[in-house]
Amino acid sequence: MNHFQLKDGVLHADEIPLPRLAEAYGTPLFVYSTATLKRHWKVLDRSLKGLKHLVCYAIKANSNLAILRTFAELGSGFDIVSGGELYRVLQAGGQAKKVVYSGVGKRDDEIAFALEAGVKVLDVESAAELARVSIVARRLGKRAPIALRVNPAVDPKTHPYIATGLKESKFGVSMEDALRLYTLAARDPALEVKGVALHIGSQITETGPFTEAIRRTLELVGALRGQGIRIGHFDVGGGLGIQYRDEAPPHPDEYGAAVKQALASFDGEVLLEPGRVLVGNAGVLVTQVLYTKRNGRRNFVVVDAAMTDLVRPAFYGAHHEIEPVVPVEDAKPVVADVVGPVCESSDFLGKKRALPPLEPGDLLCVRSAGAYGFAMSSNYNTRTRAAEVLVEGDEALLARRRETLQDLVRGESPSPRPRRFTKRAVRVESQSRAPRRRKA
Ligand SMILES: *Cc1c(COP(=O)(O)O)cnc(C)c1O
Repeated sequence: MNHFQLKDGVLHADEIPLPRLAEAYGTPLFVYSTATLKRHWKVLDRSLKGLKHLVCYAIKANSNLAILRTFAELGSGFDIVSGGELYRVLQAGGQAKKVVYSGVGKRDDEIAFALEAGVKVLDVESAAELARVSIVARRLGKRAPIALRVNPAVDPKTHPYIATGLKESKFGVSMEDALRLYTLAARDPALEVKGVALHIGSQITETGPFTEAIRRTLELVGALRGQGIRIGHFDVGGGLGIQYRDEAPPHPDEYGAAVKQALASFDGEVLLEPGRVLVGNAGVLVTQVLYTKRNGRRNFVVVDAAMTDLVRPAFYGAHHEIEPVVPVEDAKPVVADVVGPVCESSDFLGKKRALPPLEPGDLLCVRSAGAYGFAMSSNYNTRTRAAEVLVEGDEALLARRRETLQDLVRGESPSPRPRRFTKRAVRVESQSRAPRRRKA
């Protein structure tokens, strides 16, 4: 379900024909539907009705400020993975007290930023990080709200690059380590144990892995209660998949019902960290045909969007539907690879696609580009990044202007001033050990 539909033979975003947007803002262009964004958030929120819960949008999927503001206005919380993302949430009017901070590699300055801002919780992913958080909190005279991200060792049955809860993935801590670390944390006056967190992967298309991960983590919660450690919230992470092609992921209602049932015995707050499911099908990428060509037996449609705009096909072998913005009836289809201008053979948006015969200037719509699209874009080949537009009814908001050539060289100089480093011994300092644990 989305608001990108054919009307009078032309693909529209809500009520605006995509060619009008392409004309006004140029291509490649990301177009997002406000109505779709809002509906997705509300459907997921409603799926947990009756349970004390907070939907924390995982902003790495699409961190445009206008999108964050849209969710913030619905009362959303946010899941972040860097200080940069915290900055974005605050810029967009999000509340720090609804922010969950995840990630395996938080720096001291990021931990300090989060504590100063007053985030809801830091999801700690290792013993070493727990020690750092304690040190930074003490330095600031604060108590750090923490949860441990546990690794329930569940196979989410997704692409290996987006499976994050396997026993040997870099994320989270094992159940055994968690028990020990919670005990340490509960005794540390600079730490306040708030909850438990997990996140087993992305683009998961069945409920089984989620409920199994919850079940395993509830055993830990029970064991902790036995030791007098109260777990106030249970964060089930994100990862619910969407339909790109012929996947049949559970409807959010089904997912919500499964989560509710799995957590029936849990009496605290439930947190969700959805990313893709909220924004993926709320966005498309509009691109223009530059050339068509044939090499050997293979046809190519060269378009002005590239892996620098949408890296998922190159990165994960992901499939995105590609269709003409103005479909031609009864056209004999041509099977072609849709490729970008970047100097890499992995620079394709789609392979072996049946498309009508195309001419330079024709517009194509790449579907399901709202998640991990712009957010993963780059300036490789010194390409300006695309503009982003948010559509609501017959109105469009330019949520990010197209980059300019000046943007591309900002911070660089052809002849930077040299800085001399005088000879001096390098001071080596261990960062990993907490001084308080050193025995005198
Ligand atoms: C990426 C991520 C999410 C969101 O994943 P989706 O598959 O987009 O829902 C949630 N939580 C954490 C910790 C993440 O790293």
